Amino acid sequence: MSRILIVEDEPDIALGLSDDLTIEGHQVEVVGDGETAARRGREPGWDLIVLDVMLPRKDGFDVCRDLRRSGVLTPIILLTAKTQEAEKILGLELGADDYVTKPFSPRELRARIKAVLRRQSPGSGETFRFGDVDVDFARAEVRRDGRTVDLTKLEFKLLETFIRRRGRLLTRDQLLEAAWDHNTHVTDRAVDAHIVNLRRKIEPHPAEPRFLQSVRGLGYRFDG
Ligand code: CA
Repeated sequence: MSRILIVEDEPDIALGLSDDLTIEGHQVEVVGDGETAARRGREPGWDLIVLDVMLPRKDGFDVCRDLRRSGVLTPIILLTAKTQEAEKILGLELGADDYVTKPFSPRELRARIKAVLRRQSPGSGETFRFGDVDVDFARAEVRRDGRTVDLTKLEFKLLETFIRRRGRLLTRDQLLEAAWDHNTHVTDRAVDAHIVNLRRKIEPHPAEPRFLQSVRGLGYRFDG
């Protein structure tokens, strides 16, 4: 069961979605405007946010941007009525994970939701492989060419965050939010230092990273 926040101002669509996802076994809450969405979306515990673009008070793009800027990593699926490619790309650049164009079929949306949730939380025993590195999420173990790699707890958390958000830009603020204890004060330089250490442990050539890429001036991206 997942906790899903639905942001949709059209009552019929909101109700249909809510019923549909509840029947699927999810715990669902609905909000109808962008300001409430930006506030509620920051609350911990959501597994997914389904976010309409055309909303009163604040549109879905702005909500998405706000959430990502404040370090929220919860997956977001945008519901867009716009079919222009530029709008879709804008949504993904702002940090959405996927989008579904209205009018959508419930089956299509369910499939997208499933895919996003699966990517977000590998089940127990699930592993992920890139290059010669095997990551075992259930055991919190990393092996390289069959040999155990000694990762600190923080490094493992960082790597896990990158894998779950692979292909996507992660800012230092987002990495801080995801991997560090919220009470500790950490500088950007400290984040960079941990990335350097992590690269030494997982990259074939740490000075020319193949997986853990720097995105100049913005943050990092895992391509695996
Ligand atoms: Ca709407």
